[in-house]
Amino acid sequence: MIKKVLIANRGEIALRIIRACAEMNIATVAVYSNVDRDSLHVKLANEAYCIGTAQANQSYLDIKRIIAVAEYAQVDAIHPGYGFLAESIEFARACENSGITFIGPSSDAIQKMGNKIIAKETMSEAGVPVVPGYEGVISSAEEAHATVAEIGYPVLIKAVSGGGGKGMRIVHHERDLEKSIRQASNEALQSFGDASIYIEKYIPTARHIEVQIIADKHGNVVHLGERDCSAQRRYQKVFEEAPSPFVTPKLRQEMGEAAVKAARASDYVGVGTVEFIVSDDDASFYFMEMNTRIQVEHPVSEMVTGIDIVKNQIKIAQGDYLPWSQNDIHIEGWSLECRINAEDPEREFMPVPGQIRRYKPPFGEGIRVDSAMSTGAEISPFYDSMIAKLIVWAPTREAAIDKMQAALADFEIVGIPTTIPLHQALLAHPTVREGEVTTKFLEENLDALLDTQSEAVNE
Ligand code: ADP
Ligand code: ADP
Ligand code: MG
Repeated sequence: MIKKVLIANRGEIALRIIRACAEMNIATVAVYSNVDRDSLHVKLANEAYCIGTAQANQSYLDIKRIIAVAEYAQVDAIHPGYGFLAESIEFARACENSGITFIGPSSDAIQKMGNKIIAKETMSEAGVPVVPGYEGVISSAEEAHATVAEIGYPVLIKAVSGGGGKGMRIVHHERDLEKSIRQASNEALQSFGDASIYIEKYIPTARHIEVQIIADKHGNVVHLGERDCSAQRRYQKVFEEAPSPFVTPKLRQEMGEAAVKAARASDYVGVGTVEFIVSDDDASFYFMEMNTRIQVEHPVSEMVTGIDIVKNQIKIAQGDYLPWSQNDIHIEGWSLECRINAEDPEREFMPVPGQIRRYKPPFGEGIRVDSAMSTGAEISPFYDSMIAKLIVWAPTREAAIDKMQAALADFEIVGIPTTIPLHQALLAHPTVREGEVTTKFLEENLDALLDTQSEAVNE
């Protein structure tokens, strides 16, 4: 039984985990950097320890110090949240070696899925469709040209160790291939310490649709349906919804089965997300990657299934059996999530850290706000610029969009620019209303959206 958990994270996800633990009567230990000493996660945990200075590698990424605190505080388990050490093989291994339960999959599973080529190989062997390409590291210009000759332009160059949308380049013409490889490779080295890249077919008119899976230690795996995360900018998600307006019951079943197959192929234990790129033309779907952690957008799946994903993560980690089989999982109604960031869309979405002079979140039936902010709190330049996740649930998609619009209008954040006006403009757009968003939509319509946004502000 897990009785005490250290949360190796900060911000809204640390709070989300602390709340799940509190409901399960599990004691919590927070860790924090010196700039986070007044944060809510520090106040709400049962114990809290400062582990260093603001730079993440001096605190939230310091494996030795986090393990030392875990041992000192005598916790049974560590929850890594998302980002930071959530997908660190070394961290999962350090927990394993210290006899502390890592709330997540084994270090072997993280390793397998963290390398996107090995992940693709594992999936195609298991019969899960993968994006066409060459399933190996591209190590020479000749190899690159040969691969592209086979699959045809456009292609996407991707980092083998990639994440967070970094290290990717779309190539449309032969003449740009080698230059783009160099750029992607340099970016990959900078971001992940690994310059290796691979090439796959670029699916131009596509949706990002991902399936949430849960697997216990006893071989049971179920999926919780899909999330549509096609609204993206620079390969990063802006808002998400469950279910997907594109997915029919038949496609849901096919993608769900493929995701369960993917989990079984990697002996996966815990919660995970299997990401697919889905052609908007013929609904063919291809495995892109598997994220071996809780995801930012997990709430929309919770809202439509009634299942608390974080609590189940903890239960699985202590060896519990999944309490349902696939037939027990039902998708009800519609849920949307807007990521509200301290960013200035007018200036290339530059993060704008600073103090929130007034913070008043919306509330009411069907409205959920996952956030660690309050009046007077600071968005620190050292960490990501997310202020809050605004989540709604309603019986239908239309009603959910209306509810989100009302909730966005009620959200008061004074002192720093936010992406609220952008979300308002987005949700008013007919393409969004009609559920026709593909991964290119936001970038192609950004200027027009920003115009409507400033009109709304000036009214
Ligand atoms: P999600 O699919 O959960 O929405 P995101 O791509 O938004 O995932 O990433 C979630 C968090 O994890 C973000 O804070 C992002 O910066 C971070 N992240 C994702 N992948 C990596 C990586 N490989 N290295 C470092 N941080 C990452
Ligand atoms: P990351 O690890 O950075 O999240 P992903 O492989 O999940 O990388 O890709 C991020 C985004 O890039 C996807 O959500 C999708 O919009 C786009 N993308 C990735 N692969 C393809 C592809 N083969 N064709 C078209 N778009 C793609
Ligand atoms: Mg991804």
